[in-house]
Amino acid sequence: MSFADLGLSDELLKAIGESGYTEPTAIQAAAIPPVLMNRDLVGIAQTGTGKTASFVLPMIDILAQGRSRAMMPRSLILEPTRELAAQVAENFEKYGKYHKLSMALLIGGTSMGDQQKALAKGVDVLIATPGRLMDLFARGKILLSGCSILVIDEADRMLDMGFIPDIEQICSKLPATRQTLLFSATMPPVIKKLADKFLSNPKQVEV
Ligand code: AMP
Repeated sequence: MSFADLGLSDELLKAIGESGYTEPTAIQAAAIPPVLMNRDLVGIAQTGTGKTASFVLPMIDILAQGRSRAMMPRSLILEPTRELAAQVAENFEKYGKYHKLSMALLIGGTSMGDQQKALAKGVDVLIATPGRLMDLFARGKILLSGCSILVIDEADRMLDMGFIPDIEQICSKLPATRQTLLFSATMPPVIKKLADKFLSNPKQVEV
């Protein structure tokens, strides 16, 4: 299996080649084709398996179509920690170098003003920790009704950190017709319930 077999664009294949990867990891090979076809996905995979690229790569190609609108992010990636959020942002920059996608990082410990300015312009990709996102939402600084892709990453860590109620609230503010991807290293009953409630006929991939 090569990256070229997965249905990704030439621009993306070029960026992947330049990053030095020669072949997709198991989660990438299994997840990228269904995600590109707009299916919901449950990915059971640990960090270190290449799971970040398994959602970042197809999202870049999906988002390359269409354009952003003020205050309405087109996609949302929820991460439990600032560090993970920053890593996902780096992945978008690395693989998205031949695309013109705009991105904002909404995490605690950084200036709220700069984040709001980026959002006001409209972003294709919003990467956030749940607490900071809820904060801005409560102040009316962000609309989630234009988000057609949602990624809930590291769901079991979100559970450990007490973020599930926030995630449930965030999900309820997104349009019902959207693509939702959920990744977790393990599948405790609470996460299974969350997936049953917020994902629609997901493809399940386990590595
Ligand atoms: P992740 O599981 O997303 O945190 O990725 C773990 C590490 O694997 C990161 O350092 C990535 O840069 C690297 N990686 C991701 N995909 C590939 C690939 N197809 N080939 C080689 N390394 C990869």
